Amino acid sequence: MIHFVGAGPGAPDLITLRGAKLLQEAGMIIYAGSLVNPALLKMAPPGCEIYNSASMTLDEVIEKMRDASARGIDVVRLHTGDPSIYGAIREQMDRLKALGIPYDVTPGVSSFCAAAAAVEAEYTLPSVSQTLIITRMEGRTPVPPREKLASLAAHQASMALFLSSGLLEETCAALIEGGYAADTPAAVVYKASWPEQKVLRGTVGTIASMAGEAGIHNTALILVGRFLGNDYELSKLYDASFSHGFRKASR
Ligand code: SAH
Repeated sequence: MIHFVGAGPGAPDLITLRGAKLLQEAGMIIYAGSLVNPALLKMAPPGCEIYNSASMTLDEVIEKMRDASARGIDVVRLHTGDPSIYGAIREQMDRLKALGIPYDVTPGVSSFCAAAAAVEAEYTLPSVSQTLIITRMEGRTPVPPREKLASLAAHQASMALFLSSGLLEETCAALIEGGYAADTPAAVVYKASWPEQKVLRGTVGTIASMAGEAGIHNTALILVGRFLGNDYELSKLYDASFSHGFRKASR
């Protein structure tokens, strides 16, 4: 059995209980070494075979899985954050399906959640935005034309940008071109939940030079939107005059 497991954003105690149990029982771990915290590997049982996929191709990863499966060994394929977000798991699952090797997926805490925790923010503030756009600046991986950053920016929704901190100048230029005012609040969260976590708060106009000065070029999320500001309305959910399925209005 191959278990795709979300490792969480970095702090080893932010993996799920299910993920931790699978690690403790694994005969082989293939982890995404560029971002998964190696401290998680301490959960592996003695004798567990451990491979860093950072230097491997898809074919090599699948070969390791095929070999383990033939030997009856349980494999944990450990991906950073949640595997459904920029995790490249679909191509692995499709290859396993074709080979008849069973697999399952255990979700993880994505870095966009850890970044919100780091800045103590809520992406979906009433009257500010009820939408979170998760996207990336186009890099070597193309982005479909209808999802260009400038056109997504036109929504002025809350945004969490992955894989873009190396292209911060271009990212902010596209956000402004698309409609965010230069003074829209923005934050860069580097290594959310790791001991070396850094948070920079600024605006779409200032955050690129701030990150440049701080030397942040990778492993960071860019958060953008007025949810980082201070104007919003109180929620209906906890409003005393609002009834819902679990509570009657008291006034
Ligand atoms: N599946 C992962 C994302 C993988 S893509 C998840 O759910 O978080 C890799 C990108 O994720 C990095 O370039 C960076 O933008 C972001 N990232 C991953 N871990 C991070 C962390 N701890 N803090 C900030 N950004 C992180």
